[in-house]
Amino acid sequence: MDMASAGTAGTAILGGGALGLTLAYRLARAGERVVVMEREPVVGGLAAGFRVGEDGPWLEKFYHHLFRTDTDAIALIRELGLADKLYWGTPNTSLLIGGTPYRLDGPLPVLTFPRLPIHDRLRLAFGLAVLKALPTPDLLEGRTAADWLPRWMGRRAYETVWEPQLRGKFGAYAGEIAAPWMWGRIHCRTSSLGYLRGGFQQIYEALAAGIAAHDGAVRLGTAVESIRPEADGALRVVSSAGDERYGRVVSTLAPRLTLRLAPDLPESYRARYEWGAAFGAHCLILALDRPLLKDVYWLSITDPDYPFLAAVEHTNYIPASEYGGRHLLYLGNYLPMDHPTMTATPDALLARYSPHLRRLNPAFSREWVRECWGFAAPFAQPIVTLDYKRHIPPHETPIPNLYVANMFQVYPQDRGQNYSIQLANTLAARLGA
Ligand SMILES: Cc1cc2nc3c(=O)[nH]c(=O)nc-3n(C[C@H](O)[C@H](O)[C@H](O)COP(=O)(O)OP(=O)(O)OC[C@H]3O[C@@H](n4cnc5c(N)ncnc54)[C@H](O)[C@@H]3O)c2cc1C
Repeated sequence: MDMASAGTAGTAILGGGALGLTLAYRLARAGERVVVMEREPVVGGLAAGFRVGEDGPWLEKFYHHLFRTDTDAIALIRELGLADKLYWGTPNTSLLIGGTPYRLDGPLPVLTFPRLPIHDRLRLAFGLAVLKALPTPDLLEGRTAADWLPRWMGRRAYETVWEPQLRGKFGAYAGEIAAPWMWGRIHCRTSSLGYLRGGFQQIYEALAAGIAAHDGAVRLGTAVESIRPEADGALRVVSSAGDERYGRVVSTLAPRLTLRLAPDLPESYRARYEWGAAFGAHCLILALDRPLLKDVYWLSITDPDYPFLAAVEHTNYIPASEYGGRHLLYLGNYLPMDHPTMTATPDALLARYSPHLRRLNPAFSREWVRECWGFAAPFAQPIVTLDYKRHIPPHETPIPNLYVANMFQVYPQDRGQNYSIQLANTLAARLGA
């Protein structure tokens, strides 16, 4: 790969999430001088955690688990010596329909699902089997989920199971979501879920330590402000930490952010890649003195009028005893980035959500809540509409030595730590690591 002239050594990697850190680690181990610039005060990006209690375990700001198919993430966990902390279980994941949770995570629950007549259950099971069996989503290209799912699984199954979930996650875009994305959700996922006991943050702390051990740097609290090409092929990176020249820059930021930082990217590039919408994510996390959802880990809410789309009781999967007896409950949403929930205080949200928590468990009272945290992140969920694939940028950009690698390039699977790690592995190999 081309690198700028001597005297401007090294690679700047913008963003210290799963992708940026894995890439930096691989390049640093191959002898490259790397500097990671991360705006936040901790590494880990969307998968970052915070400490529960003083010196307690890390807990993700947004609920996280792995699937058995997340082979790149599992391999990295092994490589970092963390395999003994990787726990696999099959917790209860359910759908709330008409006030009742239904488990739909296998053929038997689908075939006995009482909300649909037997004929519709069979069609639902058949459609799911087709998505599981199709080795690639090629046959689904050009079709929306809203078109494909009712055709193959029946309208009633679509309206009962899929449409409310698509609406919950994608709002007004629900009808435009690409069918291959749905293939990714069904084909690539397992009911066996993996969690790194002590928190996924340990991966990112280990990567940061590995980068430092190979003479790289991870600069936290460093917001990148611009990337400009210089006449000799070097790139000038201006950040809150100063103004520097690098031989190579890899941006792991959302494409729209990279385009904002690099005004020299040409119009033709912008026309194609400054495209599409993304939602932000918000989670209110409650530490309760007792369980709320009984034995359910993951509850997708399809009933209307709930102010959150998922209730995830982490401690119905990983024991509360690991968190000092706290029962940890996430109440999650994907929302437009300017939605008022994104900036609301945890107390205000708790007040708004409490009546709905009583719908989930009539005994719930505010006295159960010992602690409460709120987290919001922009550009957290790409909206994978029909034309999405055509607008995925390649790693190379028209500016020599400026590369992009980000979770918006993940397709057709839903983004996840695994796919960011996979992209990092692929790009590292292409860059010679
Ligand atoms: C609600 C939710 C649930 C999820 N659940 C799961 C799950 O169960 N399992 C799973 O594997 N994945 C899950 N994910 C997805 C997973 O977190 C992401 O796919 C993965 O962490 C993306 O990593 P990344 O490095 O590509 O991007 P990011 O984590 O977004 O990293 C980009 C980094 O760039 C930084 N940045 C932005 N602008 C600047 C700037 N100007 N200067 C410097 N730095 C900047 C950001 O702070 C961020 O740290 C979930 C995500 C969300 C939001």
